[in-house]
Amino acid sequence: MILRSTLLYLSRQRQLRRWMETSPVAARLTRRFVAGQTLEQALSVSRRLGAERILTTLDHLGENVTSAAEAQASREAYLEALSRISADGLPATVSIKLSQFGLDLSPAICEANVEPLVAAAARAGSGVEIDMEASDYVDRTLRLVRAMHSRHGSVRAVIQAYLRRSLADVEALCGERIPVRLCKGAYREPAAIAFPSKRDVDENYLRLARILIRAGAYPAIATHDPRMVHGALDAALELGVHAENFEFQMLYGIRRDLQRMLTSGGYRLRLYVPYGVAWYPYFMRRLAERPANLLFLARNLFRN
Ligand SMILES: Cc1cc2nc3c(=O)[nH]c(=O)nc-3n(C[C@H](O)[C@H](O)[C@H](O)COP(=O)(O)OP(=O)(O)OC[C@H]3O[C@@H](n4cnc5c(N)ncnc54)[C@H](O)[C@@H]3O)c2cc1C
Repeated sequence: MILRSTLLYLSRQRQLRRWMETSPVAARLTRRFVAGQTLEQALSVSRRLGAERILTTLDHLGENVTSAAEAQASREAYLEALSRISADGLPATVSIKLSQFGLDLSPAICEANVEPLVAAAARAGSGVEIDMEASDYVDRTLRLVRAMHSRHGSVRAVIQAYLRRSLADVEALCGERIPVRLCKGAYREPAAIAFPSKRDVDENYLRLARILIRAGAYPAIATHDPRMVHGALDAALELGVHAENFEFQMLYGIRRDLQRMLTSGGYRLRLYVPYGVAWYPYFMRRLAERPANLLFLARNLFRN
């Protein structure tokens, strides 16, 4: 617990961040979890994974933006990613956070930035996965997902199993044939709206996964938890849902054993591939989730 808090504290330290983001040693150490600083590096990871029949979703790492110009810059970065995905014929989508597209400035600014991206994804036969952020973003995010789905298709919503409201959201999205990525949820939320115990979150996750596999539009089961993965596989088997009607999603570099188990069993797997210069907070959060990853880092440091 202390180690986790320390890592989260370090994730907010500006000087360490500046050093890490510009150090060649750090770049070598973080390669397992972050594709690199450039789109080219992300595409190369996507290409390599594609050769192993693994799908990808590219995440251009960024922060909450504070100006319309920054939101437009995010849009441009993603438009370029989509254009390269299409030109290179890669089996990839993109994942975006609406706070990076100006949602904190205004829903209209955000929509004006997201819409060209969704339209480009639809033309390219790709897709835009709209990450879910803290609970006060949920309604605004789902509203935009619905608007984009009705005009272009090619979007995926994300639902967090820790939120008490998620059963109703999943049922509604299944009814509207909007694809959903199901995850446990990564933010700190009050007990009034989110299940505080891991056991309840896991139970809700399995319940929602079953609904999505039965009635969802090509759902994505996003987790590294073997119990959740096996629960979803059991549900699919029991309901007679074929492997091509859903996919699993995991983060690049995490639980590669479980990733291999799924691909060798003929299941679809998509990896979330982060890239960009602002990789430090993402990387530190992954370490904080599992401080044992520090051992992996130390080993690599020694080797290097
Ligand atoms: C593809 C994808 C997209 C996501 N999108 C969102 C989103 O839009 N919004 C959101 O709130 N959250 C998102 N998340 C994060 C998610 O909500 C969880 O916080 C995160 O996945 C950890 O939950 P878990 O299901 O892996 O289970 P946990 O119970 O946290 O972990 C299960 C097991 O996974 C392994 N593991 C987990 N994390 C790590 C790690 N860092 N390093 C090594 N092993 C690890 C460990 O073996 C652990 O025992 C996403 C996750 C994935 C995989």
